[in-house]
Amino acid sequence: MKTFEELGISPALLKAISEMGYEQPMPVQEEVIPFLLGEENDVIALAQTGTGKTAAYGLPIIQKINLALHAPQALVLCPTRELCLQIADDLNDYSKYIDELKVLPVYGGSSIESQIKTLKKGVQIVVATPGRLLDLMNRRCVDLSGIVNVILDEADEMLNMGFSESIDDILAEIPAERNTLLFSATMPAEIARITGKYMRNPKEITIGNKNESTANVKHVYYMVNARDKYLTLKRIADFYPNIYGIVFCRTRKDTQEIADKLIQDGYNADALHGDLSQQQRDYVMNKFRNRNIQLLIATDVAARGLDVEDLTHVINFSLPDEIEAYTHRSGRTGRAGKTGISISIVHIKEKGKIHEIERKINKKFVAAKMPTGNEICEKQVFHFIDQIEKVQVNDAEIEGLLPAVYRKLEWLEKEDLIKRMVSLELNRLLNYYKEANEINTIDESEKRERKDYDRGASLAPEAGYAKLYIGLGKMDGITPKNLMDLINDYVEGRVQIGKIDFFTRYSLFDVEEKSAKAVVAALRELDFLGRDVKVDFATEEQIARGTKDRAESAGPRNRGGYKGRREDGGSGSNYRGGNYKGRSEGGYKGRSSEGGYSRSSEGGYKGRSSEGGYGRSSEGGYKGRSSEGGYKPRKDSGSSYSGKDKGGYPKKKY
Ligand code: AMP
Repeated sequence: MKTFEELGISPALLKAISEMGYEQPMPVQEEVIPFLLGEENDVIALAQTGTGKTAAYGLPIIQKINLALHAPQALVLCPTRELCLQIADDLNDYSKYIDELKVLPVYGGSSIESQIKTLKKGVQIVVATPGRLLDLMNRRCVDLSGIVNVILDEADEMLNMGFSESIDDILAEIPAERNTLLFSATMPAEIARITGKYMRNPKEITIGNKNESTANVKHVYYMVNARDKYLTLKRIADFYPNIYGIVFCRTRKDTQEIADKLIQDGYNADALHGDLSQQQRDYVMNKFRNRNIQLLIATDVAARGLDVEDLTHVINFSLPDEIEAYTHRSGRTGRAGKTGISISIVHIKEKGKIHEIERKINKKFVAAKMPTGNEICEKQVFHFIDQIEKVQVNDAEIEGLLPAVYRKLEWLEKEDLIKRMVSLELNRLLNYYKEANEINTIDESEKRERKDYDRGASLAPEAGYAKLYIGLGKMDGITPKNLMDLINDYVEGRVQIGKIDFFTRYSLFDVEEKSAKAVVAALRELDFLGRDVKVDFATEEQIARGTKDRAESAGPRNRGGYKGRREDGGSGSNYRGGNYKGRSEGGYKGRSSEGGYSRSSEGGYKGRSSEGGYGRSSEGGYKGRSSEGGYKPRKDSGSSYSGKDKGGYPKKKY
C-alpha cells in the first residue's frame, strides 16, 4: 500500500490530513488520487459514502488549483445542502495550510446575495447544489469558463432528486476540455447516459462490488401484517435498548405520524422531513448527531447528507420504491469497519421486492423472528443492570445526601432493594408486554397455520368488521375479484373489505362496520342471471354453518385447533375501488392453492377488468366454466348484465 506522499500529495495537504488522523490512504483514494493528479482524466467511481471519496477527489483538485487565479476552477455538484456544507468543510480542512484557497458552498435555502458577494471576491472551488448554481448562472453571477475539474458527487442521488436537466444545463456551460469525475453509490441507467454524453474514456473504479451494499451490514426483515408494522417497530426499539438509528418512511406524512406516535409512547425519537423549516431540520439533525435522540424518523430526501457515523440500525418502515434507495439507506450503517443491521418491516406482498433487493445487493436477507414480550423484558432488564454497573458515581456530589438516603432505605434487604429498583424501571414495560398480543411474523409456517385455521377457527368477524352473507358461491364461479368489482361498482366511497370465504352456494365476507350498512343496501337487490341474490348481514346460524362447512371441507384433522391471529391474506387491508389487484396477487394466492377458489378465476365471471364494464350480452356477460368444460352456469350465457348503462338500478343485473 502506498502512502499519501507516494501518491503525489503536496506537503501542505499532507500536513493538514495527518493532523486529521489520515495515516494511510483508503482504497478509493489510492486508486483515484494519482489518476486525478494527471491531466484530462475522467473518472467514474462506484463508491458509497464513508469510503473516503471526498478526500479522493478533494485532495487532487485542491492541489491542482492555480492560486494566482481568483476564479472558479473546480466545481463539486452534490444533491443536498447538508452534503454541500460537509464537502466544503472537508475541503477547508484539507486546505488549512493553503491560505489563498477559497472554497464556497452554494446551496438553496440561504441568502443568495451573500453567496454572490463572496463569489465576486473570488473563489477557486465552488461546491453547489444544482438548483442554486443554475440560479446563480442565470443571474450571471458565476463564471464557469475557467472550470477544469467537475465532480458529480452522489450522482445517483442527484438524478433521483430530479436534477438530471439541471446537470445537463450546468455541464453545457463548462468548457469541454475539463476533467469530469462522477461518484455514485449505484449505477442506474441514467448515469450511463450522463457518462456517455459528458465523459471521455472514463476510468471506471469500483470500490466494493457494483451495487453491493456494505459488507458489514446484515440485512433482515420482519414479515408482518400491515396493521402490525408500528407495533413491530416498537418491539425492535425495545429489543435493542442501545439502538441509534434512522427509521425510513416513504412520505412526509408517514414520517411525522410515526415520529409522533413514538414520542407519545415515550420513545426518544423525532421526525426529519421536507415539511419542516430549515431551522427545524438543523435542530433535529443536531439533536440526533449529539445522540439526544435515538431514533430519527426520516424520508430519504431529508436524511441525505446527514452524515452520522456509528448508526447501529437502519430501519425500513416502508421499503423504498427504488432499489437504489435501499442501498443508500442500508449503507448508512456498518460504516468504518463497524457492523450494522438494516431491518425491513415488510408486508407479505413485498416478498418479491425483498428478492429483487437481494439480487441487486448480492446478499441474502434473514427472516427475523419477532422478539416476544419476555425476550424484550429480559433484554431491558440486563440493559438496565448493565447501566447500573457502568454508571459513573460522582461521590463528591452525592456525599451530602447519602446518609439520609441510607437511613430511609435501612429497613430493606439488598434483594428487596434490587427488586424494587428493577420494578421501578421496568414495570411499565412488563405490564405493556403482559397485556400485548404477541405479533406473529409471517413465515414458511404460514401455510400450515392457514390450513389449521381453515379447519377450525370461527368465522366470526374481526373487531371493527361486520360479516355479510351473499347467496353466490363457488358453483356460481364467484371470485374475490368480481366480488370486489361488485362492491366497488355499487357502493359509493371507500370500502374496506376483510376476509372472504367462499362456499359452494354462498359466501361470507367481512366489511368494515361503518360501511356495512351501505354495502347491504347497495347490493340487497342483486340480480344474478335472472336470479335474486340475497345479500345481508350474516346471521349467527350462517356464520356457524360457514365455520362448520369450512372445517369439513378442510378435512378431519385438528378441528377447532388454531387460535392464532389471522394472517394478512385474510385480513382487511384497504382494498377499495379498483384496488384489488394487490389482494389477488398477495392475499389470495396462498389460499387458492389450498383448494380454494383459484379455478373460478379461469372461468367464473368475466368482469369489468377485461371489458371495461360488466360483461355485456354480446360478450356473453357471464362466461361460465361451461366453455372450459368444468362449470355449468344455471342459465345459458345469453342473459347478462343490464345494469348501469341501461339504467337498471336498483334491480341490478350481473
Ligand atoms: P467520506 O466517504 O469522504 O465521507 O469519508 C468518510 C470518513 O472517513 C470521513 O470521516 C473522513 O474524514 C474519513 N477519512 C477519509 N479518508 C481517510 C483516511 N485516509 N484515513 C482516515 N480517515 C479517513
